[in-house]
Amino acid sequence: MSIFDARDLPETDIETDVAILGSGPAGLTLASKLNSDCVVIESGHWDLDLKNHREFHSINSGEPTDIDSVRLRGVGGASLRWSGRCIALDDYDFEDREWIAEAGWPIARHDLDDHYAEALRLLGIDETENPRFANHMPLGEATRHDRELRHCTWLFADRKPGGMVRFGKKFRGEFTRPGKHLIYGAHCVDVVQEGEAVRALKVIDRANRMRTIKARRFVIASGCVETCRLLLAHDRANPAALGKVRAWLGRGFMQHLRLDAGSVRSDPGQFHPLQRMLNIFHKPGHNSQEFGLSLEPAFAREKKVGNASIILRYVPERGLSPLDWTPSIMGRLLGRTPHLRRAKVMVEIDTEQAVSPSSFISLAEQKDKYGQPRALVHWVIDEVDRRTGFEAMRAFGRFLQRHELGLLDECQEISPDAISSHCRRDTLHQLGGTRMSDSAATGVVDRDLKVHGTANLWVVGGSVFSTGGHANPTLTIMALANRLAHHLGKVSSAR
Ligand SMILES: Cc1cc2nc3c(=O)[nH]c(=O)nc-3n(C[C@H](O)[C@H](O)[C@H](O)COP(=O)(O)OP(=O)(O)OC[C@H]3O[C@@H](n4cnc5c(N)ncnc54)[C@H](O)[C@@H]3O)c2cc1C
Repeated sequence: MSIFDARDLPETDIETDVAILGSGPAGLTLASKLNSDCVVIESGHWDLDLKNHREFHSINSGEPTDIDSVRLRGVGGASLRWSGRCIALDDYDFEDREWIAEAGWPIARHDLDDHYAEALRLLGIDETENPRFANHMPLGEATRHDRELRHCTWLFADRKPGGMVRFGKKFRGEFTRPGKHLIYGAHCVDVVQEGEAVRALKVIDRANRMRTIKARRFVIASGCVETCRLLLAHDRANPAALGKVRAWLGRGFMQHLRLDAGSVRSDPGQFHPLQRMLNIFHKPGHNSQEFGLSLEPAFAREKKVGNASIILRYVPERGLSPLDWTPSIMGRLLGRTPHLRRAKVMVEIDTEQAVSPSSFISLAEQKDKYGQPRALVHWVIDEVDRRTGFEAMRAFGRFLQRHELGLLDECQEISPDAISSHCRRDTLHQLGGTRMSDSAATGVVDRDLKVHGTANLWVVGGSVFSTGGHANPTLTIMALANRLAHHLGKVSSAR
């Protein structure tokens, strides 16, 4: 098997066709789908490397947020901790929207359709299982004629055996194939570029030995913040290298806003149908699914807001007796609709963030243990983001009333003018910084994910998202990696 701790490698120079930096979902999906030789280079260890993690902490300014909890190091990247919640971006997310500056992707949603299907296949998620859950789904009826909200479904990568998909474990077997190598404990500190062509990556192993990875093509797949940090440091050290994309390099940093948007007051006659509509459903031997709501595009356009989704969390109240729990536990074991006798019904909204150059990743004064500048992340929440959250909350309140499902006690601290940090949590979805655009004036990578102005440097991961929708990003990251594998395949045979 070609999996090595970098310390054990006898060579100091390694050569391959495609060098992939990062072994998260992006890097490993790409490596598994490429039909050419490749080396995946991973800074972390085989398992989660918390010591290594702390050594690279970032500096935050702007809105308070915990940037580092997503920057996990280890084979599999942040998938070592992910929850496996998967959903594709909507058509709406790819549109130009004049109220969100720079919105719109240079590709359309249908350009990703086949790649989404492949990503689901890789995760062991069978989309066709949806109808089996149809009997849990009076939601379809409720949203059929609703002009503000529609239903949406998340699928979980939690199929047996082995529970949740962990990418390191899942893709380990790929490295038994000839020409495929994974080197962990190898931290990249430098990109060597001559003119428009990258020649090598310099990596340091844990014995502090420097090694050189030479390749014909290079893909940076090291997570949103780390990708930007590396490219920004490369740009600072070699001003001619990435000058063409400097305007947007690191800019347009987005996360989803996760809002605790209040609770639902319902009587038993409302509470039970609500549970059957908006909930997570488990069925032994199948992927779990979650049914929620998202904004109807026509409504979002009318209100000039971004995309948003709404789900419910049922939080058991103190003082519940075993009698209250038993139906739920039995239901779960038997794969039936979860059914609590009573619970607090909490509303959770995930919103799209508008693209803004004033929300950015840059380089801090402070250095890490290798002397590289730490990442400085300045996160901004703007007016469109607040209105999106507010309008989604209001729309859900009206939905409950229209369908006589209860009353929403709104979070009073969410308004178009301000969102209190009490009502907001981190989503662990980091996007933007090397956004996709046909023009270097408004982005960093082109529609094929190649860095504008370079001959052989590509990026894949959340950083390339032109806009972020409300969707958890990993399925789209995998779809983009699969698409890139096809593209590099084409580029390879065309040379
Ligand atoms: C607790 C948690 C729950 C989550 N739940 C979900 C979910 O339910 N659904 C969802 O869609 N997403 C979820 N996410 C987010 C998801 O994990 C990320 O979107 C995904 O892992 C991003 O994949 P990636 O390959 O682009 O980057 P990463 O997973 O960050 O992988 C990048 C890899 O590159 C390596 N690297 C970085 N810099 C260097 C360097 N200089 N040299 C060498 N290697 C380097 C890192 O060590 C890392 O292993 C969750 C995240 C967390 C933390």
